[in-house]
Amino acid sequence: MSDFVIFGNPVSHSKSPLMHNYFFKKFNLPYCYGRYELKDSQKIIEKFKSLNVKGANVTIPHKEAAFKLADEVRGIAKKIGAVNTLVREGDKVIGYNTDAPGFLEAIKDWKWERALIIGAGGTAKALSFVLGDVFILNRSKERLKFFKDKKTFTWDSIDDFDYDLIINTTSAGLNDNSLPARREILEKLFKNAKYAIDVIYGKETPFLKMAKEFNLKTKNGLDMLVYQGVLAMELFLGKRLNREEVAKIYFDILRG
Ligand code: NDP
Repeated sequence: MSDFVIFGNPVSHSKSPLMHNYFFKKFNLPYCYGRYELKDSQKIIEKFKSLNVKGANVTIPHKEAAFKLADEVRGIAKKIGAVNTLVREGDKVIGYNTDAPGFLEAIKDWKWERALIIGAGGTAKALSFVLGDVFILNRSKERLKFFKDKKTFTWDSIDDFDYDLIINTTSAGLNDNSLPARREILEKLFKNAKYAIDVIYGKETPFLKMAKEFNLKTKNGLDMLVYQGVLAMELFLGKRLNREEVAKIYFDILRG
């Protein structure tokens, strides 16, 4: 029986059990973290309670259901409308989002003023709530409608190339060799930028390769994965951790 689980479908690819079990081992904590392939999103809280776990992470496709069904939702998750961490508190299940704050934590050493998000899907939406006055560039118009209070562009309408931080949230480059925007757009952006981060991990995307050619400082999605895990662990244990020390443990096990 696990003390913590990750709910997803599919869930076999998830790195969370590897990360958190390694943490428990390192700190001699008597806990065990498992995975649970949940078919029906509507059952997520019921399942959390019947498994009698202390906490859980939530991945695709259950984050919106976890938001709707948790007994209470706290913090930035209320704005984002998606929950990736569940914690038992008495007989209640409380929902949080550590994906977007984890992203911020991952880039906390970077000094930037203007950021551009490429992509307008779930990850872009979540990040737009923690990045403040951010700009959005997407291939097509439809998904940009969500960002009512932001300045948005399509590939054809972009006329402002002056940002110090460029974030790729599209899946371009995940299973192919494509860039998240036309090469000439990225050239103009990279000429002015200082930093580039991709939320994809496990490979160097064409986006990051190109950013390196322009001598930008880069990070990939592993940093976001690690820091969402660090923040989830703080919630599981109910205390502030030495984030850098814990991040190092997660990087060590993930990089092998
Ligand atoms: P969505 O499916 O919600 O959004 C996809 C977005 O990408 C859309 O804006 C779409 O544009 C754009 N897009 C897709 N393919 C291309 C392409 N070839 N060229 C340009 N734009 C493209 O995706 P999510 O936000 O859910 O996830 C995006 C990525 O984030 C995934 O790769 C996922 O693995 C990663 N991720 C990483 C995390 C981490 O911890 N590191 C956490 C969560 C996600 P359009 O509107 O025109 O179709």
